[in-house]
Amino acid sequence: MNHFEPDENFALRLDKEDPLAGFRDRFHIPDDDDTIYMDGNSLGLLSKDSEESLARVMKEWKNQAIKGWLEAKPAWFHLAETLGAMAAQLVGAEANEVVCTGTTTVNLHALVSTFYRLKGSRTKILADELNFPSDIYALKGQIKLKGLPVEDQLVLVPSQDGRILDEEKIVELMTDDITIALLPSVLYRSGQLLDIPFLTRKAHERGILIGFDCSHSVGAVPHKFDEWEVDFAFWCSYKYMNGGPGSTAFLYVNKKHFHQEPLLAGWFGYVKEKQFDMVLDFQHAHSAGGWQISSPAVLSTAAVEGALKILLEAGIERIREKSIRLTEYLIFLKDHLLPADKYGLIIGTPREPERRGGHVALEGDENIWRIHQALKAKGVVPDFRPPNTIRIAPIALYNTYHDVWQTVLRLKDIIDNKEYEKFSEDRAAIT
Ligand SMILES: *Cc1c(COP(=O)(O)O)cnc(C)c1O
Repeated sequence: MNHFEPDENFALRLDKEDPLAGFRDRFHIPDDDDTIYMDGNSLGLLSKDSEESLARVMKEWKNQAIKGWLEAKPAWFHLAETLGAMAAQLVGAEANEVVCTGTTTVNLHALVSTFYRLKGSRTKILADELNFPSDIYALKGQIKLKGLPVEDQLVLVPSQDGRILDEEKIVELMTDDITIALLPSVLYRSGQLLDIPFLTRKAHERGILIGFDCSHSVGAVPHKFDEWEVDFAFWCSYKYMNGGPGSTAFLYVNKKHFHQEPLLAGWFGYVKEKQFDMVLDFQHAHSAGGWQISSPAVLSTAAVEGALKILLEAGIERIREKSIRLTEYLIFLKDHLLPADKYGLIIGTPREPERRGGHVALEGDENIWRIHQALKAKGVVPDFRPPNTIRIAPIALYNTYHDVWQTVLRLKDIIDNKEYEKFSEDRAAIT
């Protein structure tokens, strides 16, 4: 348990003692010095390493053109596998179990279309009602592709409080009509981190395949996919991985499934050495690379290389340690300086650090949208998820403890001085 003090000097001392403090200079912090970026869980910042890897690829395109496919470093032809092998170290996988390809939701389709198999009376998919909407749309589409009615076939684990999921409840719903389960690692709104090894074990005991959407955990939380025996996983690279807006995503397939034929097939999933034989029978690679569909989006992947370099250099265990300390500190300051009875804000994120991802959800009353507007006007960049949640994500690689302290102090000013009253209740498009 960490010990904290609420004064500014304590924040500055924590920064002085921070072993990862040096990484902040490797990033471009947007706007002016007074801006505090707390939205790295939506869009991670650009690092100088990513800027460099992207510039290098532009130069390779300029100077090498078609030759870049084999002669660029790394060669574009192998880019997806090369970056997959780097990312494998972050998630406890072997090099060929991860590939950098596609986009998050497309990867979901690629994986689920392979692993969603009807086995007698086992026809249903298990997911949860707090899941990211895109995942649910995709699962409904997958069910319709099987010619089955969505209403009966998609089982959504309910949440008691609209914030968190009870893992025991999830297991209760792993009944013998479920063939596959797809759950998030970290819930995007509340920040709850699910117990992946426990859920995987329980699913397997019941003959259910299980996959995870790890968009909100990779880059912030260590994973041990092989040790946990997760069947498959996928995640985006633009949140805690800092790979750039809409950058190429990742997928993991446990090697025990390499023999399965990828059904959303495409030529980049072909056995690498023979891809250019151009024969019409699909021979899939026996690796995660088999689930690629198209040519790698080289420009959208280029920045991911620099981002991975930083993550590996900092080390995911150290990143997690600092991330927990940052969110602990944020919760401490909120409890001390903004008590719920006076300020109307409550913490929606589990208080046990091992049940939390990288952000803290602050839930508010009817003023919460205007408080969010006022916070932005005061130079803090959080984000908002309806109906009532401000998400604050202090990122281990580039946020300071002083950033956290200032965020809470600015919130306090806004509420003490009713600064939010100047803002409209109308909600514009949300990012
Ligand atoms: C961010 C996020 C996505 C994003 O999907 P895209 O296809 O990359 O737009 C999907 N699922 C979850 C859980 C996310 O957090």
